[in-house]
Amino acid sequence: MLLNQEIDLLESKIDKLFDLQKRHSISLRKSTVHERLGHIKRLREWVLSHKEDIQKALYADYRKPYTETDITEIYPVLSEAKHFISNLAHWMKSKRMPTPLTFLGTKAQTQYEPKGASLIIAPWNYPFNLAIGPLVAALGAGCTAIVKPSEMTPHTSALIRRMIGELFDEQMVAVVEGGVEASQLLLSKPFDHLFFTGSPAVGKIVMKAAAEHLTSVTLELGGKSPAIIAEDANLKDAAEKIAATKFLNCGQTCIAPDYVFIPNSKRDPFLQYVKEAIDSMYKSGKKGIEKSPDYSRIVNERHFNRIMHLLQDASEKGAKIEIGGKSIPEENLLEPTVLVDINPTMLVMQEEIFGPILPVMVYENLEQALALVNEMPKPLALYAFSNSSRTIRHIFEQTSSGASVANDCALHFLHPELPFGGVNNSGIGKSHGVFGFLEFSNQKAVLEQRIGFTAAKPLFPPYNMAKKKMIEGLLKWF
Ligand code: NAD
Repeated sequence: MLLNQEIDLLESKIDKLFDLQKRHSISLRKSTVHERLGHIKRLREWVLSHKEDIQKALYADYRKPYTETDITEIYPVLSEAKHFISNLAHWMKSKRMPTPLTFLGTKAQTQYEPKGASLIIAPWNYPFNLAIGPLVAALGAGCTAIVKPSEMTPHTSALIRRMIGELFDEQMVAVVEGGVEASQLLLSKPFDHLFFTGSPAVGKIVMKAAAEHLTSVTLELGGKSPAIIAEDANLKDAAEKIAATKFLNCGQTCIAPDYVFIPNSKRDPFLQYVKEAIDSMYKSGKKGIEKSPDYSRIVNERHFNRIMHLLQDASEKGAKIEIGGKSIPEENLLEPTVLVDINPTMLVMQEEIFGPILPVMVYENLEQALALVNEMPKPLALYAFSNSSRTIRHIFEQTSSGASVANDCALHFLHPELPFGGVNNSGIGKSHGVFGFLEFSNQKAVLEQRIGFTAAKPLFPPYNMAKKKMIEGLLKWF
């Protein structure tokens, strides 16, 4: 909690930054592809030359393994930057629109104008990637940005402040560090676009604040992403992919499979494969998982306690720990933990787990499982495992989610050409590549009358009989 005096200081800093960026954002309306790519290229070079600093910051925050930082924090930012470098000139070009007969003599275009001053609020779970990835899109679209990293990963937050300070003037990009108070002060300003990544609960607060100024929003939220395994699926393959994605980053991944649905008859062999996958990823010899250099920690004590409460609630309501369950509170560590005998009244089936607990629910027929998925808010991702393309199509057609992935998990996040985002409770708007560019751009309609008179002039009042007849005739045309 900040003191009143500190809040006043922060407020005046934010007011100054906002005014500075708002003014600068107007001059950026004319920015060229060359200028925008200049920013992105310098950012990319900084990331490449400070790889070790990024790895160290994330390790200090929650013991994230260096290689996992390479794969999930550095690679996505470099890949987004590269994709912008290759495509921005094409995306920025005005698009000539067709001219229907009734508009003869006009020229119509869609132009992509920078929205202006943007605010990026990032979460703690991929704290570098989810602050800097959207920044690439904001810069590509020609916007200024204030970046607010998460207060829960202070080492990464400090690193982002240093990086932005070394790369940009404050009028272009600035960092405001802090927690809820900083966020709320920022949210009170009339930004032109707001890009928020975080929980649905805070997403609602952000959207209400944006409504005050009718600021457009991109909300990248979370939810319960199911993995549905069909009767004919390759169980070993499904188990390996689900375990790898679920326990990556200690289960703290927005698109991790939150829970599994599996036919009753396939449950035990599936569990055996999951156990083997966990052992092979995190156990070496007789050493426990706590010794694995490849398993991160839960971000802090508050989240550790929240996750342990979910586990306790499930146990009290009849769930059985089938795999894992061991915890070391002083390290915020819970082993990869798999629960069976699950029912929908358990908190693990009502809240986003966001930790290393995987509930495995059984079903007798697929329709039952789909009905349960459809009773819950629409997820960020839905994973379906089956050897039949007809079954996959059926699952995808019967459900709604931000992304649907067949026979794999989370891979869509890394695909540069795909939109990334949720639907309703799991998010509003899309990011990555051209979709991120469009979020930060105003798609402006530009129409030029080229024949010197208004084609609609004969329709101006007064509406005499001849005009009425002409209008009636026109309506019959459509
Ligand atoms: P969070 O919503 O608690 O916090 C996100 C950001 O909002 C932080 O910067 C925080 O300081 C700020 N914030 C927190 N409370 C606020 C308030 N009352 N008013 C204004 N700002 C506030 O989320 P988190 O715990 O950092 O991240 C976990 C959540 O984010 C999960 O739900 C996860 O699924 C989701 N997530 C989504 C994506 C995605 O791309 N869709 C990616 C990562 C995480």
